[in-house]
Amino acid sequence: MLTYKIRHNRDFSHELLLAKKVADFALETGSRSSKDVKHIGLKSMIANQILRKYSHDKKLKAVRNVVLTIPRQGIQVDKDIQQIKIACLKLELEYQFPNNFSKINQIEINKDFAFVSVSIEEQPERVVDGYIGVDRNTTGHVAVVGNPSTGKVLKLGKQAEHIHKKYKNIRRALQKKGKYGLVKRIKHRESNIVRDLNHKISRKIVDTADKNNVGIKLEDIKKIRKNVKSRRGFRYSLNSWSYYQLEQMIKYKAKLLGIPVAYVEPAYTSQNCSMCGHLGNRSGKSFKCPGCGHVDHADSNASFNIALRQIKDGRLCVDRDAYKGSTDTPQTAMMGTTLTVEPHVL
Ligand SMILES: [Zn+2]
Repeated sequence: MLTYKIRHNRDFSHELLLAKKVADFALETGSRSSKDVKHIGLKSMIANQILRKYSHDKKLKAVRNVVLTIPRQGIQVDKDIQQIKIACLKLELEYQFPNNFSKINQIEINKDFAFVSVSIEEQPERVVDGYIGVDRNTTGHVAVVGNPSTGKVLKLGKQAEHIHKKYKNIRRALQKKGKYGLVKRIKHRESNIVRDLNHKISRKIVDTADKNNVGIKLEDIKKIRKNVKSRRGFRYSLNSWSYYQLEQMIKYKAKLLGIPVAYVEPAYTSQNCSMCGHLGNRSGKSFKCPGCGHVDHADSNASFNIALRQIKDGRLCVDRDAYKGSTDTPQTAMMGTTLTVEPHVL
């Protein structure tokens, strides 16, 4: 199951108000019959969903954030023109997310967005011609991606460090002034920006793998934390939720295309020469090999090493739960509930 978010550009404030009334009614009376709320005037298909949700919730004291829930039978989809129709709201939605879903389960609509929940068809894992390596323990990028078969390197997410520093300073200043509510909001804003960035970076990595028909190798993150000293400059990424989030995004986007994702041991990925395997000299961003004379950017060298390294225990990543990783907030990211992919960053 995946949930995609689409901006609907319609004013549903009237319908949302009616939905709130139906929910209040359901909570108060426990009624589950749409006949009882006919006088309110909400479309019965939506009213039914709301009654079902609120009538038996004994723990709920008050109704908040009611959404318009449209069940599967109220939704039509045309995959050729990538359009969804919701007849009872006379709403047509263009979507940009991939067509590889088997069905739309339901759509929830709030003030600004439609949340489209779909079931995904399982893609068989493809046979690949080698791997690209993703280095996430870099000197200033979120990820550096090396493809040994083409010699090409992608450096992605340079702005993340700047974003982190900027928001850290803002938070500090606000904390000093005792404005804790604002601190929380700023934190939320930062996590949204980082999530968007992670979406773009993971998209780029998976697209690169797709185009070259290669798999993706990552360093085993737990091992990095334990054994490998973080490189200077960008320590923040190593222990943060954003690091984990990026990994989840790479995994589910790859899985949708049948691209294998594998883990390798992180030891010495930055010290060894990717050309001859010799222990080299690193200083800052440069790498020099005394064995073969190879000179490279340290992060590029590391990403090639990751790409060429043996897969750990022959264990490929066949994480069936990859879809469930949430990208919503740092907290729920670890819990794994629903995944929101914003079409504009895909
Ligand atoms: Zn060498």
